[in-house]
Amino acid sequence: MRIAMISDIHGNLEALTAVLSQIEQQEVDTIYCLGDVIGYGADPATCLDLVDKHCDLVLMGNHEYAVIGYLSTESYNDSAKISVKWTQAALSDRHIQLIKGFPFDHAKDDLYFVHASPNNPGRWHYILDTKQAAVAFEHLKQRLCFCGHSHVPAIFAESPGGPPREKVGHDFVPNEDTRYIINIGSTGQPRDYDPRACFVTFDTDTSDVVYTRVEYDIATAQRKMLDAGLPGFLSERLAVGR
Ligand code: ZN
Repeated sequence: MRIAMISDIHGNLEALTAVLSQIEQQEVDTIYCLGDVIGYGADPATCLDLVDKHCDLVLMGNHEYAVIGYLSTESYNDSAKISVKWTQAALSDRHIQLIKGFPFDHAKDDLYFVHASPNNPGRWHYILDTKQAAVAFEHLKQRLCFCGHSHVPAIFAESPGGPPREKVGHDFVPNEDTRYIINIGSTGQPRDYDPRACFVTFDTDTSDVVYTRVEYDIATAQRKMLDAGLPGFLSERLAVGR
């Protein structure tokens, strides 16, 4: 079975539609969304509807959790706070109910899917370095973990008897005796200095992990955010991928 995974769309409809049409050409069996469909971007409602229609699994992200009022935005920066408020106003009760049904994680055989970390998924821990990865591996029961949250494609590998190693996210085939935490990057707000939308496919038969980057209409996404009155910082960063 081939699984396509998208994450951190952040209300960016232009990025989402570009990625979905690319996924369609690849003829995958299923699409999973690892959370943060909304927040920052100008089209949260349409993105939620599209993800609900196309994905067999949609996980809870911290932005969904904040929008339904379960997470304090106290520690968020001003842009994020403004975006949560704006997004709340842009969603209907139906969307809020839809979000409340999103699970924190999903496990199947030796695969685990989560937005942030297997370490207490509802606490939204980042996995940015090998030290944080070591803690996450302690909580991971499966062999392969797919996550999002940092918006940076990354692969952490833990071989028997050794500490986790990190490699930049790229195509690879996992070793049989090694465990992995695979950050699939961001569809709607990449932060690895590559502004193209990102998604990953995983083949359960061959174990191939493949990263794909997709050009999309960044200018339109930016214009819609500015027209909506969202902070300029949020739209500017789309062009630099940071
Ligand atoms: Zn995010």
